[in-house]
Amino acid sequence: MDLGIKGKKALVCASSKGLGKASALALAQNGVDLTICSRTPEAIEAAADEIRSATGVTVHAVACDITTPEGREKALAPFDAKIDILVNNAGGPPPGNFRDWTRDDWIKAVDGNMLTAIDLIKATIDGMIERKWGRIVNITSGAVKSPIAILGLSNGARAGLTGFCAGIAREVAKDGVTINGLLPGPFDTDRLRGNMKIQAEKAGVDFETFFAQHGAEHTAGRFGTPDEFGQTCAFLCSAHAGYINGQNLLMDGGAFRSTL
Ligand code: NAD
Repeated sequence: MDLGIKGKKALVCASSKGLGKASALALAQNGVDLTICSRTPEAIEAAADEIRSATGVTVHAVACDITTPEGREKALAPFDAKIDILVNNAGGPPPGNFRDWTRDDWIKAVDGNMLTAIDLIKATIDGMIERKWGRIVNITSGAVKSPIAILGLSNGARAGLTGFCAGIAREVAKDGVTINGLLPGPFDTDRLRGNMKIQAEKAGVDFETFFAQHGAEHTAGRFGTPDEFGQTCAFLCSAHAGYINGQNLLMDGGAFRSTL
């Protein structure tokens, strides 16, 4: 299917690997020119090379911390903030016990997983409105819908972003701009593997066996693949998805039990 977005310009944040990179690649496969970013120059250059040689689109690789104002300025610079598609993403806050979290821990989480995305939306949305076309996808977490206590920092910050976007999505729809959340369940990325390695070590069991067992026990009998996530993200950014707005799509293989 032609997604109808060839020639559009996108900023995909936190995208040297994992879900961000998969989303960037899926957009590039549909002819979208990109800015991608992550903190390490080597990693983001390598991802950009891979996407360029696989698709032939223009890829600007920016080494920056997207959670800082300077980082966001650098990430917006290649397209002079005139982007058609914004995919918000950043590393998630660490797990823990809420009794241990200080005010600084909360500020860092809210900054990284709520205010960063809001700032990028603020910097780009009026241009989208003027051009009468725009797509914003926030990569958040299944924990927004089905919270996990040890991920309290993530639950709180991401719920804040979701609430903010629920309001503005209704304001911009008439100008051809949509804002949606894409909520990952467990996807086989370095982050998931890293978290499970810690759990396996704590349980004193072999990581590969632990990982395979958890995948097999999942409702879908496996973890999600980054490609499945990226292709779904690209569809939400497509011409065909113009009437999907203000939604939060849970991608967890059906693990969350609800009728609707
Ligand atoms: P990942 O660790 O595989 O990749 C994260 C990417 O973000 C990397 O490219 C990293 O360099 C980049 N990054 C991190 N912090 C950054 C920053 N401050 N500035 C610029 N780049 C930064 O992680 P992932 O699994 O792709 O997860 C992406 C997001 O989705 C995270 O917020 C994570 O919490 C959330 N999430 C993931 C899962 C999952 O199962 N993978 C589930 C729920 C939520």
